[in-house]
Amino acid sequence: MRCPFCHQDNDKVVDTRTSDDGFVVRRRRTCCACGKRFTTYERVEATQVRVIKRNGQRVPYDRQKLRQGLERACWKRQISDTQISTLIAQVESDIDSMFETEVESQFIGERVMQYLGELDQVALVRFASVYRHFQDASDFAKDLTEMLEDPDDVLRHLKHLQNPTKLRFPKANKKR
Ligand SMILES: [Zn+2]
Repeated sequence: MRCPFCHQDNDKVVDTRTSDDGFVVRRRRTCCACGKRFTTYERVEATQVRVIKRNGQRVPYDRQKLRQGLERACWKRQISDTQISTLIAQVESDIDSMFETEVESQFIGERVMQYLGELDQVALVRFASVYRHFQDASDFAKDLTEMLEDPDDVLRHLKHLQNPTKLRFPKANKKR
């Protein structure tokens, strides 16, 4: 990094800290030429793609919105902020590696559900229920049955869902 005072490119890092859930790294540097100190920040760039919604509308990808949805799904579950951040980073990395400028919201939802299912099945169902708006309850239950290890156990944790009666899982077809 070029020194902002003497413009020499010769410095050493004296302190490194991460903040903002690990998305930002702050480095204190000392210029080896003039001895002055300066600070640099390194950020994970939020993906710049646009999201194609179901109705065809295009909106900028919104990490904060995704995080809020995940926090709601993980409410009172044993999932840390770091785990949520990691999940978001995985999803963004998938988006960036597969799409240049636009991605369908469905792709994001499905990736989130895949990773969330590996962490916590109750959070998965909560997220999925909001994501799919119960528009087609039977499809929803069928898809979920395939993703869940123990649907009955998950249902017991979901008494608070607005319309739990719609969530009737077909008889589990254990494929493991
Ligand atoms: Zn300098």
